[in-house]
Amino acid sequence: MFCVDVAINLPVKNIFQQFTYSIPSELEFLESGWRVVVPFGAQKVEGFIVGKRPLSSLAPEVCSKLRAVEAALGERPWFDQEMLATAQWLAQYYMCSLAEAMRLFVPGKTSIRRRAVKDDQGRLIRYEYEERLREKTLQALQITEAGRQVLALGGGPRLQPQLKALELLAVSRESLTLQELAENYISPSTAKTLAKKGWALIVPKRILRNSYVNPQQKAAVFQLTEEQEVAVKAITNAVQEGKQETFLLQGITGSGKTEVYLRAAAQAVGQGKQVLMLVPEIALTAQLVERFRAWFGDEVAVAHSKLSQNERGDVWYKMYMHQANILIGVRSAVFAPFADLGLVIIDEEHESSYKQEERPNYHAREVALIRCRHTQAPLILGSATPSMESYYRAQQGEYVHLRLKNRANGSSLPVVEIVDMREELKARNFSVLSRKLRQALVETAAAGEQAIILLNRRGYSTFVMCRDCGSTITCPHCAVALVYHSAAEDMRCHYCGNTAPVPRECPKCHSRRIKFFGTGTQKAEEELMALPEVRVLRLDQDSTIKKFAHMEILQSFARGERNVLIGTQMVAKGHDIPNVTLVGVLAADSSLNLPDFRASERAFSLLLQAAGRAGRGDRPGHVIFQAYDVENRVLQLAAQQDYDTFAQGELQAREAFFYPPFAEMLKLTLWDKDEGMGLATATRLVSYLQQLQLEDKLGEVMILGPFPALVPKVRDLYRFHVVVKAKKLELVKKALWESEFKNLKNLYFDVDPASVV
Ligand code: ADP
Ligand code: ZN
Ligand code: ZN
Repeated sequence: MFCVDVAINLPVKNIFQQFTYSIPSELEFLESGWRVVVPFGAQKVEGFIVGKRPLSSLAPEVCSKLRAVEAALGERPWFDQEMLATAQWLAQYYMCSLAEAMRLFVPGKTSIRRRAVKDDQGRLIRYEYEERLREKTLQALQITEAGRQVLALGGGPRLQPQLKALELLAVSRESLTLQELAENYISPSTAKTLAKKGWALIVPKRILRNSYVNPQQKAAVFQLTEEQEVAVKAITNAVQEGKQETFLLQGITGSGKTEVYLRAAAQAVGQGKQVLMLVPEIALTAQLVERFRAWFGDEVAVAHSKLSQNERGDVWYKMYMHQANILIGVRSAVFAPFADLGLVIIDEEHESSYKQEERPNYHAREVALIRCRHTQAPLILGSATPSMESYYRAQQGEYVHLRLKNRANGSSLPVVEIVDMREELKARNFSVLSRKLRQALVETAAAGEQAIILLNRRGYSTFVMCRDCGSTITCPHCAVALVYHSAAEDMRCHYCGNTAPVPRECPKCHSRRIKFFGTGTQKAEEELMALPEVRVLRLDQDSTIKKFAHMEILQSFARGERNVLIGTQMVAKGHDIPNVTLVGVLAADSSLNLPDFRASERAFSLLLQAAGRAGRGDRPGHVIFQAYDVENRVLQLAAQQDYDTFAQGELQAREAFFYPPFAEMLKLTLWDKDEGMGLATATRLVSYLQQLQLEDKLGEVMILGPFPALVPKVRDLYRFHVVVKAKKLELVKKALWESEFKNLKNLYFDVDPASVV
């Protein structure tokens, strides 16, 4: 007799412990990894089995009180050993409950749905449950033993159609649906006859839905460049040996990283292994999916964020059953089950969309690394502008650093020019387009070529800038811009809480033309439309609410139906359109001074990506950055497309201010409907940590806050942040885990936060 430990799958933050249940004899096959239904209080809920032990290991009085597992869900354990281990790591590392970590692996987070059972008068009696994942099945035929005998004996002409059908069924690995039979010229009436005679059995067959259907193109096979060759060789060696190694594939835009991914994937698939490829946003990577489809055809499954729960379930099933070899998906695909994972690729590994901004705040790159370690699968991190974390690890020798320094097709990087918008104002040009960009647009359109205009509008109106010298007002302690708070009409530092009044004049040049930065995106669009021969297409959040709208807009632009594409970040990413020869970035300096330690890194990579869209074909590209703060070092380096110099400077600054990758970071957010109470709790938390710091129990650590969040009140709840930077965050996590704060319902932990505001 056995009992099992179950993690209860409820969306409640603070159920940290597991619960023990007995298993009835008919469910004795249950083991770790199964999803089950268990009674919990008066409800029936889903749980995940995380351990199994003999009933005799419990005290008799505990035994007698045990409740029993009610039912098993699915046909097999959902979690294998590797997934269980990853979930355990995740709960510990990201400071969440085991159930919270495990539900990430289940499509739709929970696999049962509650159904109210009511009596005649409509009063609620109880809740029942039903399985949520509905498998789509069709009737199919499977040959029986009798059928095989008939086939062996053969028969006269009247039996020929039936014999032909039996033959087909006999050689087919699985059952065949009526439609599949019809495709082989076997009529439904013949099929029915087989069933009636007992020569075949009617069985349900699971049909996998695939919402991502795109015609296949032919694979282009290139002669690899020397740089590509070196990279491919290093990676395929690791794949061949089944050795966990992480490769940072740093290649400039257009250097042919995709070709390297394809060859590495081909090696893994050739060895009968599976490949996981993560992308930041499926809609922006249509070209990449097409290239994989062209190489691998039906071997490729795609999991994007707009799949229904059932569709996602089907994709997961396919991977587990080894019916597909390659899974291309967004962040959450890192939790897919695999039969035999042999390689993971993360494209654009620096993208912030890999970090989940809600609980549990995992980073797909870190989860992937853990899964790779558990399965001995090599990991490729690809980017033109690697994250500081990955770049640093590569420099430290933790990752193998592979570089592609040239464009694969021999084209050169575009020429980037910075236009000083202060000069435009002086010349009384009040347009959002500089004279130079306007001129270039007109010429590009006239030449039958295309242009992309990036509106870099993140963080407008939040910081204070001098119109004359372009400098922003920054915190003396943290080297980040101060944020203007309209309520208090002052400026604040979101790292240390320092506040300052808005100065009347610029501290640097004493000009009085101090402005809160902002500009009109509509104005830009209108001005573009007024230019001769310019036909504008817009790509932004508003225009892409529909399922595949992104892709349609980009494809329409790629086909040349319009000649100017204008939009936010999305226009800068992923696509490869040879006819684009001009890229303009409006307000290129606007996000350089956001109050966040990753502001420069993000801005730099966006500028480089945007520039990289130009001149990918046989004509050279031209890029214009419009800016006020034209001397800005980051802007200058972006114009020179010099990532390494940027990264070295950025790493020095990170080290000096004790930011990642030199420190591990934890952001704690406290929510309270009472402002005073919230602040008091947050202060108590800080004191607790400071006390431990004094006792030297936390190692090298910096504790900042509490300070109000950038948006201090959300839905009537006040938010306070505490930020901890530590050499060994483990010690801080442990201290919090052993404290009263662990169980606070209104305290949230964000490990390795993407930002601090
Ligand atoms: P990245 O992902 O590094 O920006 P891509 O993989 O999109 O670059 O490749 C850029 C272009 O170069 C694509 O049009 C691709 O077809 C082409 N390309 C890739 N490898 C080669 C090669 N070895 N020879 C010629 N062209 C190549
Ligand atoms: Zn000034
Ligand atoms: Zn500060």
